[in-house]
Amino acid sequence: MSRSAHPAGPRHADVLPEGHYSAPPTDLNLLDPKVWASTVRRNDEGVVTVGGLGVDELAAEFGTPAYFLDESDFRARCRAWADAFGTDADVFYAGKAFLSRAVVRWLKEEGLNLDVCSGGELTTALSAGMPAERIAFHGNNKSHQEIQRAVEAGVGRIVLDSFQEIARVAHIAESLGKRQRVQIRVTVGVEAHTHEFIATAHEDQKFGIALAGGQAAEAVRRALKLDGLELIGIHSHIGSQIFDMAGFEVSARRVVQLLAEVRDEHGVELPEIDLGGGLGIAYTSDDDPREPHHIAKALNEIVTRECEAAGLRTPRISVEPGRAIVGPTAFTLYEVGTVKPLEGLRTYVSVDGGMSDNIRTALYDAEYSVSLVSRTSDADPMLARVVGKHCESGDIVVKDAFLPADLAPGDLIAVPATGAYCRSMASNYNHALRPPVVAVRDGEARVIVRRETEEDLLRLDVG
Ligand SMILES: *Cc1c(COP(=O)(O)O)cnc(C)c1O
Repeated sequence: MSRSAHPAGPRHADVLPEGHYSAPPTDLNLLDPKVWASTVRRNDEGVVTVGGLGVDELAAEFGTPAYFLDESDFRARCRAWADAFGTDADVFYAGKAFLSRAVVRWLKEEGLNLDVCSGGELTTALSAGMPAERIAFHGNNKSHQEIQRAVEAGVGRIVLDSFQEIARVAHIAESLGKRQRVQIRVTVGVEAHTHEFIATAHEDQKFGIALAGGQAAEAVRRALKLDGLELIGIHSHIGSQIFDMAGFEVSARRVVQLLAEVRDEHGVELPEIDLGGGLGIAYTSDDDPREPHHIAKALNEIVTRECEAAGLRTPRISVEPGRAIVGPTAFTLYEVGTVKPLEGLRTYVSVDGGMSDNIRTALYDAEYSVSLVSRTSDADPMLARVVGKHCESGDIVVKDAFLPADLAPGDLIAVPATGAYCRSMASNYNHALRPPVVAVRDGEARVIVRRETEEDLLRLDVG
């Protein structure tokens, strides 16, 4: 994932922000379908439900904090991406957003492929039965052991990230008597996030081989010479939480340009291009993400047009959405522990989790929404900051949000759109026990990743 911040909207001041947050919603009890998983509703008693199950019952059974993942929504999103791109393209789910064996099975059943970027992710994928040829292996510093396992397993592609890796993968494949299908990851000089993209000077990053200065062309030259490698295409990933297609347009144009150079120099038309992931989702009501079919149409048009102009056959396209599939499907459920009103500033609401289950706010200044979900309230809105229980003042889950002024300890609140990069980036800071992920579908809830226990902590601590 891009390390760039997620600047959705202006930066916030640390004192009471003036106009830095949207006006309070007219009804705090309403749930904006844009940010909540598709089966989330509020029932007649005012309790929020997912898959037909009330959060009060879910909290009683599974405890808090916990992530609740709407399995039908996840599957529907997989199908929407697969349908949008059709049979002439491939959709790879980026496993780093959130990976578990249940997720791997859903992906397999819904016809998606899978990106992994570590031995651990590869093991998870294989152990849940994902066919190796549907796995792509990424990373800027894959170990010898990881490469060897990936080649032995027969992964569909390894995405080469550096000159050293071109030689390394070729050597390992040859020594195993194999020819590994590979793509070369290039940096196209575009970094995109949210509503902007910057089209210069972004080769300054650890990933990929620069198009600039003929670096990528040299990488292709080397890869084509090596018996252990079958070069099938070029890969580009330009950022994260992107809403605007302009960055993809520049990226696709530059990748196609490279394909044309490769044809001119080597007489080879590389058959695939991968345009990466990074498609944005709604974290708050202000975000307007695009539907998969819009994205597919835009990308297909760009690539077809550029290839026609260059006199190339249109390559097979692949994309790698992570956040856009899993992000909207889950929410984190917390219990309110303390409420501290600061006159003229805001009210600090402390929950039973925090930066250990959602580091994105601290790491990227990410924005989230939050709702009272165990009941409705007619109280006035209060400006709140939802904070965790960790020993850090930066331990913020939701920086600015309106919650009802009668919020009290024992209430349940939920933060939507936490399916991506929350459990997968969770930590044990303060020896916190990482929360479970509970899949909910058609009135049934099932733990797919269990809550950590103190025994788990002590098992690693060998004394
Ligand atoms: C992180 C990453 C993705 C997925 O990004 P999202 O923002 O979750 O869609 C896809 N491809 C590569 C190479 C990545 O590093």
